[in-house]
Amino acid sequence: MTTPATIGIDLGGTNVKTALIDANGSPLSRRVSQYDPAIGPDATVELIAAAVDEMRSERGDSVHLVGAGIGCPGPMDRAAGRVINAANLPGWHDVPIRDLLSRRLELPVAFDNDGNAAAFGEYWAGAGRGVQDVVMLTLGTGVGAGVILAGQLLHGHFDNAAELGHTIVVADGLACGCGQKGCLEQYSSASGVARRVASAIRSGSASTLAHLVERADANDAAAGVDATTVADGLAAAAIVDAAAVAEAVRAGDELCMRIWDEACMYLAIACVNIQHTLNPARVILGGGMAQSGALLLDPVRAHLAKQTWKLHNDQPEIVLAELGYDAGMIGAAGLAWRARGAAGG
Ligand SMILES: [Zn+2]
Repeated sequence: MTTPATIGIDLGGTNVKTALIDANGSPLSRRVSQYDPAIGPDATVELIAAAVDEMRSERGDSVHLVGAGIGCPGPMDRAAGRVINAANLPGWHDVPIRDLLSRRLELPVAFDNDGNAAAFGEYWAGAGRGVQDVVMLTLGTGVGAGVILAGQLLHGHFDNAAELGHTIVVADGLACGCGQKGCLEQYSSASGVARRVASAIRSGSASTLAHLVERADANDAAAGVDATTVADGLAAAAIVDAAAVAEAVRAGDELCMRIWDEACMYLAIACVNIQHTLNPARVILGGGMAQSGALLLDPVRAHLAKQTWKLHNDQPEIVLAELGYDAGMIGAAGLAWRARGAAGG
């Protein structure tokens, strides 16, 4: 008696997660491989194949593999299975990763972007179980997102649907790395919250985190980096992160409380807009911000109740993600199951 499984792969900028996932979305075996994308696509495929071989021999004859799925950073040509110019995969230009993997693993490979894969994971095996219409927001370095309507991932004409982190919540607001101003991710991502706190402290606002910002800026200065002009990867973001801000909120730090509450308010505004455009049953919140649990969930729910219309009681339920950092890997495996006609829908 062997258990059929698919391989779920989550290709990130610093690690690759690989797992064997059964038809119910449970990992049977898993590997996390640290890597540098600069090793190139061929070496990365070998790394994944080695992880699969290890898991296969670990499970002996008890598992047989029926497919694989991979979630990759975008932008991508989904139909062709190619990564085009992912910011998180430096040096990868127009790489046919789906077919490279498929040849090496000798299995059909499902392919989508990482935000969609994570959303599909939560829909299939996490906080979206039991409903057919869900939106997932991953509040991390940016705001990743995925939309599932009637059990299907929404891709759009340009394959770029669900870029909800770049919906505008503040007219003429903070500049975003995408070229727009006032994007949701500038206010409600884990990095955005940390950046706003650091910038308010630099402008003279009192906060218990002031010493951390000072230390981070000193590190940046020593490294020759101007922390106030670098959007990401600055020491301030690493030292003053969303977890530090959340802790300061719990301790009653007024600056952090204000910026945290604004993050929740802008998320609620995004949820109202999601409600009226997509009308999902649930909006699932994941990523670094969601680690703080009720500290995030309660104010988002309260702001949503206040901001939404009163014509009809159709606001989505706001819930926390359940799969954590496994969502992308499980979702990629789910897409492989879906390609075989399983995995809900
Ligand atoms: Zn943007």
